[in-house]
Amino acid sequence: MNYELVVGLETHVELLTKTKIFCSCKNSFGDEPNTNCCPVCIGLPGTLPKLNREVVNFAIKAGLALNCTINLNSRMDRKNYVYPDLSKAYQISQFYSPICTNGYLELSSGKKIRIHQIHMEEDAGKLVHKSGDVYVDYNRGGVPLLEIVTEPDISSSEEAREYIEKLQMIMRYIGVSDCKMQEGSMRCDVNVSVRPAGSRTFGTRTEIKNMNSVTFMTKAIDYEFKRHIAIIESGEKVVQQTLRYIEETNSTQSMRSKEDAQDYRYFPDPDLVNVSLEKSYVNRIQDELPELPESRFKKYTEVFGIPENDAMLIVKYKNVSDFFEQSSINLKNPKMISNFIIGQIFRNIETESDREKFDILITPKQLNKLAILIEEGKLNMNLAKKTLTKMLETGKGIEEFVSESDMKGLSDEEIEKLCDDAIKSNESAVKDYLDGKEKALKAILGFVMRQTRGKGDPLKIEQKIIEKIKND
Ligand SMILES: [Zn+2]
Repeated sequence: MNYELVVGLETHVELLTKTKIFCSCKNSFGDEPNTNCCPVCIGLPGTLPKLNREVVNFAIKAGLALNCTINLNSRMDRKNYVYPDLSKAYQISQFYSPICTNGYLELSSGKKIRIHQIHMEEDAGKLVHKSGDVYVDYNRGGVPLLEIVTEPDISSSEEAREYIEKLQMIMRYIGVSDCKMQEGSMRCDVNVSVRPAGSRTFGTRTEIKNMNSVTFMTKAIDYEFKRHIAIIESGEKVVQQTLRYIEETNSTQSMRSKEDAQDYRYFPDPDLVNVSLEKSYVNRIQDELPELPESRFKKYTEVFGIPENDAMLIVKYKNVSDFFEQSSINLKNPKMISNFIIGQIFRNIETESDREKFDILITPKQLNKLAILIEEGKLNMNLAKKTLTKMLETGKGIEEFVSESDMKGLSDEEIEKLCDDAIKSNESAVKDYLDGKEKALKAILGFVMRQTRGKGDPLKIEQKIIEKIKND
């Protein structure tokens, strides 16, 4: 029998707000344990939470970027459970009326992965295991999160990978999260079930908790798919449960039987007022949204004619894409800039995180100036590439390496004279060319380029030589 994989993702995204969600403690990663805490975020009785407006703004931005309905009225609820990293024994989250619903994220195939909802909530603290003891660090307690929940629309581990990578890109573009999976600012719970191909009913699902790497997430999905099939084929029943992925053995392990919503005894938090928004407030945030990666990708491929793979490499990193945008201003052919970035600049920036930072010495303005000189035919590509290498090493502008006279390029008279000399000095090559040996032209062109030491536009010079030979 053929089986179909059904996957839904719940992604937690830590927000880049300055302060926590319900108090004014600093929201910052990697500080000394328990230094960013106060009575509110460690949940002492008698304290009152107050919702951070920036968290609401970020949730609206994320919802708009993911094509959601922004609900003008939403509410915070308590999710009750006991665990040492949550001292007040409940997490403030949204359950009954989340801020964003009914969105989608489109994959490159055109398939839309529906977003069921996005809700705001607080993160819990962190348990630290050290030489047999367990410590708790409450710095992360009260850090704002968005939980982005898809419908079970994903049908392969590859689709799950693309969804997560696109989600990361979008969140970074709108500036709500850095989505660093290795630092835990993006974590993913994966719901997996399997059913006979074509069936409309869902199989029993298992949930793999807290995936913090895309590669391991895809491996875990593939592993669960096979495991479910083996259970079904053996005539047994899949047990609904929560699992942990074990990297070393590429397998999953049971953590606990899967809980349902009623186990959390959700109820509206009486300490917080409802979140009421004006439509005009939402519209203003919509107007301020930056251009999203999807739209930039379309522009790069369809308008600028940049190959899809190259366009993807530029769009993938917001800093790179911003640099590209700024250095392509007033250019007829922005593709030249993407070639420089991918061909020359990326050569020395190999890791994903370094490309993400895109910490390079030159400014977009400096690259733009170089490109304009090329477009105006004043600088040939060969010399431009060599100069760019020097610029990247030193951070200095083109004027430091190419003299004013070199930048002006060759005058038409100079080109005329150089071509005349070349034709005179290469009689046999001219004869070969007239006999139909196209390659002979290269020898004549090479002669000119040696005279100019690389200056001048080879295409223009080549045309001039052909014109002269044919008219002789
Ligand atoms: Zn606090």
